Amino acid sequence: MAALTEFELIDRFFRRQENSAGNARGIVLGIGDDAALLAPTPGSQLAASVDMLVSGRHFFADVEPEALGHKALAVNLSDMAAMGATPRWALLAGALPDADPQWLKGFARGFFALAKAHGVDLVGGDTTRGPLNLCVTLLGEVPAGEALLRSGALAGDSIWLSGALGDAALALAHHAGQLVLTADEAAACWNALLRPAPRVALGLKLRGLASAAIDVSDGLVGDLAHVLEASKVGAVLELAAIPRSEALDRQLASSARDIALRCLLAGGDDYELCFTTAPSHDPRVAALAAELGLELRRVGTIAAEPGLIVQDSSGRPLAPLPQAYDHFAA
Ligand SMILES: [Mg+2]
Repeated sequence: MAALTEFELIDRFFRRQENSAGNARGIVLGIGDDAALLAPTPGSQLAASVDMLVSGRHFFADVEPEALGHKALAVNLSDMAAMGATPRWALLAGALPDADPQWLKGFARGFFALAKAHGVDLVGGDTTRGPLNLCVTLLGEVPAGEALLRSGALAGDSIWLSGALGDAALALAHHAGQLVLTADEAAACWNALLRPAPRVALGLKLRGLASAAIDVSDGLVGDLAHVLEASKVGAVLELAAIPRSEALDRQLASSARDIALRCLLAGGDDYELCFTTAPSHDPRVAALAAELGLELRRVGTIAAEPGLIVQDSSGRPLAPLPQAYDHFAA
């Protein structure tokens, strides 16, 4: 069979009926012209984010294509969640080593399953031959002035985390032979790494409730530091309160404690939300957790003095803190 051309590829795997479904989804013109024409909801602001996944850097080259399709969109959905934005339209650019229909089919399946679950339409894209590299741009909407920012945290605010942190990094530590997980633990950790669940519903509910928010993509220590810097405040976290899986908890009690601690505090790839609220809102957050069926844990307090302190169970600060993952440091 002759190799598929770029146009055939797009047509076969990425053009969907709903992408040209007209104004109902805010699409005046979808894939097929030089640019898509979109009609944002009057009174809303557009939230735009882009994220690139590079083979060998962000994922293993032999990763299941369906998982990669899921993750390429999930990391952007997570940014929308952190802004309290409703995700609407995606653009996908990719460099592919070859046009393998089986691979593309799997990738498209993972991508579109998550897109559909979040009401996102793919409205444009570009492909080229090259080392595997995927870049998704996501556009979302938020009522004017209601976006969640990093800059609104105030001294005395409660600090919250959704879900559990560290499992994605734990999978990589296990893979690298730095610690040993059981088969079940490893499977759960790989799932956390490959199939993160972006907290879009939570982000929408946090509008008007959270004073600041960020998604934990590069590790709690580094991401929370962005909030502290933008808000010109500090924070005190309780290590024992930071949500983690039983697998990670077991590693914390083992000889691999330092590695487990780094996974928990600085591992990254978590895609949970870290947000702050006025302490008077604590009961509302608890009610929200019940409503969404999501674990939301209060992990600390915003302080007036700059700096991030993580206290162990005896109240002593951890020093030094594990450092966030830096893509350019390696
Ligand atoms: Mg982010």
